Amino acid sequence: MRIVSGMRPTGKLHLGHYFGVIKNWLKLQDSNECFFFVADWHALTNKYKETSDLKQNIYDLVIDWLSCGINPEKSTIFVQSGVKEHSELALLFGMITPKSWLELNPSYKDLKFNLIFQYIRDFLFGKNIKIDQDKLHEIVYKAFYHKKDIDYEGLTKDLTDLKIKQEIVNEIIHNIKEGDIGKDIDTFGFFGYPILMAADILIYNADAVPVGEDQLPHIEITREIARRFNNLYSPIFKEPQALLTESSKLLGIDGRKMSKSYNNTIALSEPRETLEKKVLSMKTDPQRLKKTDPGRPEICNVFSYHKYFTDLQEVDKIQAKCRNAEIGCVECKRILFENVDKFLSPIREKRKEYEENIGYVEKIIITGTQKAKEAAKENMKNVRNAMGLINF
Ligand code: SF4
Repeated sequence: MRIVSGMRPTGKLHLGHYFGVIKNWLKLQDSNECFFFVADWHALTNKYKETSDLKQNIYDLVIDWLSCGINPEKSTIFVQSGVKEHSELALLFGMITPKSWLELNPSYKDLKFNLIFQYIRDFLFGKNIKIDQDKLHEIVYKAFYHKKDIDYEGLTKDLTDLKIKQEIVNEIIHNIKEGDIGKDIDTFGFFGYPILMAADILIYNADAVPVGEDQLPHIEITREIARRFNNLYSPIFKEPQALLTESSKLLGIDGRKMSKSYNNTIALSEPRETLEKKVLSMKTDPQRLKKTDPGRPEICNVFSYHKYFTDLQEVDKIQAKCRNAEIGCVECKRILFENVDKFLSPIREKRKEYEENIGYVEKIIITGTQKAKEAAKENMKNVRNAMGLINF
């Protein structure tokens, strides 16, 4: 099967990426023809102002993949912007895609919601205001979804009810309306990113795309665009299947979803020293105040990590000892720390080798991009012919 999958270059990868994406890629590359790409154009759809780290992030992403075992002999590793045919196909798809398909795309709405929520949250936390984040999420969610779009009046009232000072609320609302957040999400690039995504996939005539449940709408719109093109011109595109992959259940060190914006991640390149600090700071069963209190591993984030990094027999022992108050949380975290360190150690070592030999990484990117280009070129010829264009 031909598989296409990409990741945005937004900084070094963390354990959530490993268990949510990379682990699956490692399995897929053994028995499929895989195209894995750095989606650098997609990184610009909402971060077009923050480009100073982009080049470094592209290299970091490829280095992370290689360090985890993504093998350039088995998989084609390339950078999206190196294959200009993606943009040509996206432009042509833009001609045939009704605007309503994009407006209805739930991922577009979700992403817009997340940006607004993050903006409001960061604004509040930047001012050191202690606030119930779940409550805030609920308020912004209500304002965003239940009232079609942000209802500024309702949001002002709800935030004031949360005992946030009126002038701060006013400032937030003012900034959402006229500040950077509005510009970031109201661009043509952001609105049209599903078209670019469809081009990324269809240009290689992929059979399947590994996705999490939340990305299913992207595949659906890709299939719709393929169908529309095939009906209008000539049946040259395959309708790719979604390879549903389970999203990572590994939470951040604070028990929330692992995300850079929550500052709760463990990077794949995490040094041993900071890893130790992070693991020792993890929250445990809140009712367990002393070692003599029996614990509840089923609600403890440290225990859920053990299931990923500790061997099965030891996990069972820890579980029993925790329930019988025979192990302290510090001891339990120390075991976890050593096991996570053992897991990350070979990845870190490989990363160091690649960092010291950046020329080799560049060569992998150039070779992969060239290979992807050859495949894309072939398909673009068919597209131009089908649409009555000249093949220059
Ligand atoms: S002993 Fe381990 S599993 Fe039990 S509450 Fe403490 S950290 Fe969690």
